Amino acid sequence: MFRASVHDRERNPLRRLLTSWVALTGLLLVLSGAVGFTVNHLHAQSETRARAEALQTAQVVADLVVHRNIGPDDFVGARLSHQERADMDADVAVLVDRERIAGLEVWRADGSLIFADRDHPDVESRLPRAERLRLQDPSTGILMVDGSRGDSQTLDIFLPYTTGPVNAPTRTHGYVEVLTPRDEVAAQVANSTRTLYGLAAMFLAVLTLVLLVLRRRLLLREDQALHDSLTGLLNRGALREQLQATVARISKDESVMAALLVLDLDGFKAVNDTLGHPAGDALLIQVARTLTRSLRPTDVVARLGGDEFAVLLTHLPDAASAEIISRQLLAKLRVGSYSVHGIELAVDASIGIALLPEHGRDTDLLLQRADVAMYQAKRANGGVTLYDEANDAHDVTQLGLLVELRRAIELDELVLHYQPKARLDTGDLHGVEALVRWQHPSRGLLGPDTFVPLAEHTGLMAPLTEWVLRRAVTQAALWRDLGLMLPVAVNMSPRSLLDGNLAASLLALLAEANVTGDLLELEITETAIMTDPGRAVRVLRQLNAMGIRVAIDDFGVGYTSLTYLKSLPVHTLKIDRAFVTDMLTDPRDQAIAESVIGLGHKLGLNVVAEGIETEEVWERLKALNCDEGQGYLLARPMPADELVAWVRTRLAVDAPRTT
Ligand code: C2E
Ligand code: MG
Ligand code: MG
Repeated sequence: MFRASVHDRERNPLRRLLTSWVALTGLLLVLSGAVGFTVNHLHAQSETRARAEALQTAQVVADLVVHRNIGPDDFVGARLSHQERADMDADVAVLVDRERIAGLEVWRADGSLIFADRDHPDVESRLPRAERLRLQDPSTGILMVDGSRGDSQTLDIFLPYTTGPVNAPTRTHGYVEVLTPRDEVAAQVANSTRTLYGLAAMFLAVLTLVLLVLRRRLLLREDQALHDSLTGLLNRGALREQLQATVARISKDESVMAALLVLDLDGFKAVNDTLGHPAGDALLIQVARTLTRSLRPTDVVARLGGDEFAVLLTHLPDAASAEIISRQLLAKLRVGSYSVHGIELAVDASIGIALLPEHGRDTDLLLQRADVAMYQAKRANGGVTLYDEANDAHDVTQLGLLVELRRAIELDELVLHYQPKARLDTGDLHGVEALVRWQHPSRGLLGPDTFVPLAEHTGLMAPLTEWVLRRAVTQAALWRDLGLMLPVAVNMSPRSLLDGNLAASLLALLAEANVTGDLLELEITETAIMTDPGRAVRVLRQLNAMGIRVAIDDFGVGYTSLTYLKSLPVHTLKIDRAFVTDMLTDPRDQAIAESVIGLGHKLGLNVVAEGIETEEVWERLKALNCDEGQGYLLARPMPADELVAWVRTRLAVDAPRTT
């Protein structure tokens, strides 16, 4: 579809005209020519009209003045009588005064003068006979020439003097020369010509302006359609065009090699969530700048959306250099300095590579494969991964689920179920553990095992944990408002615990929900502690200071060094249910449970047993001095509203778990 639209766009004649300077200049030249021609034509027309008017005047004057006073015999020798001359003079004077004519003369055919108006008595015709014969209109015998009288321009019109009927006149006896004032006519023609030229120039200027504005708007619109408005990088559509062009180039020359990189920032959501979207935007702009600066001008950088970028390396000597360049790019990205609101931020990313033509010649396929490789990189905890077909089949389903999970978090498709914990001796309710589920639109309610590990290895763990924490804290506040003081325990993945912003975001979250730290408990695993013990201790101290209690979950299955356990600021050990559920039938399980209880107590920790399914196990743990219990015997994890009903029933029966 996109391909069609690009094609259409390029074929649009208006676009072709506006985007090419040659076409645009050509068009303006042609238009100028046409306008010039029209103006000249109009000028000639007004000149013709002016001459026609002058001729009409001359004919009327000749009729009115000459024919009244001068007869055919005057042309053959007789002289004008004194009276005739006086009448002529008087008539001509009136017409000259009114500026109808500039003068009047009457000539015999031989060139001798019969009459010349008083002011300018010419002695002989200023136009020699031969010349007059050459210039005159052969059919009418009329002749018009430019002349002058005094300082004024005139149009001198020679009318043949004939007698007899109009359709059969006698031979020419001579000429009546009417001098019509030329100045006014010329001024009029010049005036209208000037107006015409002015209008034409204005028309051309406006047209040029309109074309330039249209051109600018078109280019701007096309530019916007191809670029990401935030970073100014190319957008997904433009990248596809570039990919297509590269594929086409490769088809022509098989020695050409290129690579498509999909790059996704790690932990970007945390920046958005803790510092706000404008800060996230500012970081993206800086990342875009670093990317552009780190690459050659021939490489193409695009933003695919969110924190996902793509790079098209258009000229590669070999496949190996794609990986080398990607690693260099990642290194530059990591050492780049990024700061938002004066806060220094660290940037890390995962890069997936698809090679052209090795991994495909289709835009969508290449994008998908680079994407798959990028997710593989994420799962391997960041870095650069080259697309590998062998892993793809598995990845496509995982990828699908990942995409869906991302959406599920945004669309609130996740739900929390809560499982109560109680004191083993008194049966008093001591809190609940929040356990996440996914209300999948087609697969039904999914347990955490199906999607938490997936999220754990991708950028989705942070938004997932954030969602669970927010929901759990909000729920604790709702229960508190109902008079139910139920601390909610939330499971933290190792990544989330070691996230440098954890304490700050928790503080913001608690403040927002108006909840004190003692209503929140975090369950962490041994893995989280052992991944980076120093950092874990620092984070735990911060949590401690906020009054948030921390439990080590599934204790016993990991490898916590007792040295660290001694110095860890935690409050609770949760014995893994692997040692609890069957402890009565497996003495080794019981021995481990017993040791953990002893160890915990000696370190001053609260010990909780999870996975209690029978009364007997409950009693046994109570006898071993274990502090709290959690398991199907007490209750299965349940939705929040069911929990309220469950607590009410339990209170009404007055704590039946005590014996
Ligand atoms: P967990 O933290 O050890 O949670 C206890 C698990 O044991 C829950 O399984 C619970 O339903 C199950 N359970 C409780 N009592 C009994 C019992 O008497 N018998 C048996 N057989 N099982 C019992 P669930 O809900 O399937 O959760 C599994 C794991 O998924 C959790 O283990 C936890 O590690 C993880 N998880 C759950 N929610 C979250 C979450 O929001 N974030 C993270 N990071 N992990 C979570
Ligand atoms: Mg847990
Ligand atoms: Mg557990």
